[in-house]
Amino acid sequence: MVSKTRMGRVAGGLERELSAILRELKDPRIGFVSITGVEVSPDLRHARVFVSVLGGPETEAATMEGLRRSQGYIRGEVTRRLRLRLAPELEWVPDHSIERGVRIAKLIRDVREAEERAHEGKEAVARVLRAARSFLIAVHVRPDGDAVGSALALGLALERAGRRVRFLVDGGIPRNLAWLPGADRFEPPAALDEAPEAAVLLDCGDLERVGQVRPLLDQAQEVVNIDHHPSNTRFGSTRWLEPSAAAVGEQVLDLLDELGLELDERVATALFASIASDTGGFRYANTRAETLERAARLVRAGAKPAEISRRLWEERPLSSLRLLSRTLESLEVAAGGAYAWVRVPRAALEAAGAAEEEVEGLVNYPRTLQGVEVAALFQEASLEGRPAVRVSLRSNRWLDVARVAARFGGGGHARAAGCTVPGALDEVVRRVGQAVEEELAAGPESGGEEA
Ligand code: 5GP
Ligand code: MN
Repeated sequence: MVSKTRMGRVAGGLERELSAILRELKDPRIGFVSITGVEVSPDLRHARVFVSVLGGPETEAATMEGLRRSQGYIRGEVTRRLRLRLAPELEWVPDHSIERGVRIAKLIRDVREAEERAHEGKEAVARVLRAARSFLIAVHVRPDGDAVGSALALGLALERAGRRVRFLVDGGIPRNLAWLPGADRFEPPAALDEAPEAAVLLDCGDLERVGQVRPLLDQAQEVVNIDHHPSNTRFGSTRWLEPSAAAVGEQVLDLLDELGLELDERVATALFASIASDTGGFRYANTRAETLERAARLVRAGAKPAEISRRLWEERPLSSLRLLSRTLESLEVAAGGAYAWVRVPRAALEAAGAAEEEVEGLVNYPRTLQGVEVAALFQEASLEGRPAVRVSLRSNRWLDVARVAARFGGGGHARAAGCTVPGALDEVVRRVGQAVEEELAAGPESGGEEA
């Protein structure tokens, strides 16, 4: 006879080891089974093992039979793993208790979560990148500096490591990013002659945003989603989603470290451009100490801050300044000065001789007005051949503009978001304005935190 404590310890050890052994057993007679309890007799010579089996009565019967037949092997393993002189005789008892349903639901959830975790995070993405030989690297339409910079950095680094890489974007790269090393490598989506082993999407919160690249993704064995948008739709077979990252460029730098790939001047330049773009030149609330530490590493590796900033923001064509002047003419203010917005009708682009992409960044002008919390830019556009408006939203301190954008089918970050709304310019200006004013009226308590 032994003490209750020892009985309990043996029962606990049995439960743990039996669970492990059953997981390892690849016996077709044994179904999806979990151990729900173990009772050990006082002389330790006998144990009742309660099990619950997923499936109908037939599966259960087959599993119980399989367990009995595997008895010899299982006992041998238990003896070895628990270092017992002799493992107890095992009696398998089906557990039909009330908690069983609950346990099975939890079991299924655990398995699913473990499965998810295996395909989630930096290490999981690094595993895919290490294994694949050929890559498609894609960004969303109207890509910004973070999308293009992070994509180029990852692609060029993989190429240096001997991988085949193609870069895809629907609709081209904006002029102020075309100088980035390798930017000329981006191709429009077209039929592929070789299926890539992995497709990687960077800075893309929603597959809807990749345009005609989307059908090509089906040909890849793996679709990798690397992003920092809180609204990411969690697409892809492997993901690394990091909303605390100021830019996807920060994530790519960490990935290169994980992969043991060294920085060169081109990669460092692309990453610096990515991080500088999404932090507004290290001025926005997403700029953390870690952001600046990474930026410092990039400068040491050859990135030139002054030159990159000049190329990103200070080499504008005359048409851009003409468009700016017209856009500022349209400035309106409401909500006691807390909301300011501008419009860009098609006619303004034509009169300035400006391209669509030159609208990028103009929303920051109403945002700089003293007292403004929310700024918006409304650009006349079309959606599937019908009139629509591209809306850019920015906030300064507390209002979550991603929530406003989400009301109209868009998304983004708390301080920068967007959407495309069907309808005429005036009507969309009115509807979005109303939503913004409602959120402003609700106040900071329900609208988000100071950031
Ligand atoms: P922008 O105003 O510069 O076009 O967009 C600002 C941010 O809002 C982008 O970085 C992106 O995160 C988000 N965003 C813009 N448009 C859309 C959209 O149509 N859908 C979603 N989900 N996000 C958008
Ligand atoms: Mn970004």
